[in-house]
Amino acid sequence: MPTLDPEDSIFSQLEAYGHKKIVFCSDPETGLKAIIAIHDTTLGPALGGTRMWAYKTEKDALYDVLRLSKSMTYKSAIAGLNLGGGKAVIIGDSRKDKTEALLRKFGRFIKNLNGEFITAEDVGTNPKDMEYIRMETQHVTGVPESIGGSGDPSPITALGVFMGIKACVKELYGNDSLTGRSIIVQGIGHVGENLVKLLRDENAKVYASDINEERVGQVAKKYGAEAVSNNSIFDIDADIYSPCALGATINSQTISKLKCAIIAGSANNQLQDEIIHGKMLLEKGILFAPDYVINAGGIINCYSELMGFSKKRTMQLTENIYEATRNVLKLSAAESISTIEAANKIAEKRIADIKKVKSTY
Ligand code: NAD
Repeated sequence: MPTLDPEDSIFSQLEAYGHKKIVFCSDPETGLKAIIAIHDTTLGPALGGTRMWAYKTEKDALYDVLRLSKSMTYKSAIAGLNLGGGKAVIIGDSRKDKTEALLRKFGRFIKNLNGEFITAEDVGTNPKDMEYIRMETQHVTGVPESIGGSGDPSPITALGVFMGIKACVKELYGNDSLTGRSIIVQGIGHVGENLVKLLRDENAKVYASDINEERVGQVAKKYGAEAVSNNSIFDIDADIYSPCALGATINSQTISKLKCAIIAGSANNQLQDEIIHGKMLLEKGILFAPDYVINAGGIINCYSELMGFSKKRTMQLTENIYEATRNVLKLSAAESISTIEAANKIAEKRIADIKKVKSTY
């Protein structure tokens, strides 16, 4: 993907990333200032979460929503879903500025898009907020289970990451057993804890780290993992590093310290720079499972909710992440390109192929 320059004009930015539509939502009465970005709808309606964040500038908000909506197109495409890519950002502090009225007004903007955009929760929003949006529009997923939604996606996301890890292990070691393999899980939140459980169930040696030391201690005790300090994770000699906290943890500084053979985790946008750091990992011989390929469980959960699929079907679709990851690794090896480039190629090919189907009788 080309790098965006937030200083460029809005239309140059849309052109650089190939966006279809941007909707600026303004409602002074409720204080709503939001941007909905619809990147591509070739495969289906654009689905993506709504992030509420106190962006320093409107340019920062636009930059974020353009970048995130484009990755949603790729994530759904490679997961084999009939969904396009979109994302929304609400500018504001979710702890202070979020009200029922603001969210319902935002819901009305989504309603006016007639199903071209469907939203879900993201940083700064939660299932209760989705319930408010649902009061104004049907085009929202991730509402609480009590009102027919799919509930917390984190266990499904963790399952997808687990399958992605196994696919990498198979590629490197010839079989996908995790017994005896060692893994550092960074970030023991909703996804991290579920992942630690799956890994320990298969007798992997797990090092768990988080800035919240009390929480990491509790989770380590519960599942028999080893709690480690967040500052020392790059000193540990482990087979796998699983970033499940923040993005951009893989950069020039950390790559030089990494001792692992595999990187596979849930955090979005793990590579600080897709091209530069993807290539550095390739050259260093570290197998990187592209984040959007293996953390697709959350979007699969939303898709299942929309389609009315059973939990069993959701799990099966998520288990397909194993094959999706294998295909990415095979293409990367065959063409000597980074795994992120390989994933992008596969996603772009599916979109181009389906575009042809839709343009012909
Ligand atoms: P979460 O907020 O529940 O957990 C994140 C954890 O990371 C917290 O325990 C936090 O204390 C810890 N953390 C924050 N900064 C850290 C740091 N510098 N070092 C170590 N730990 C740190 O979030 P989550 O729902 O578990 O999601 C984790 C990651 O996976 C996020 O990047 C999220 O965007 C991504 N993701 C989540 C889902 C999902 O279904 N929840 C789906 C796709 C992607």
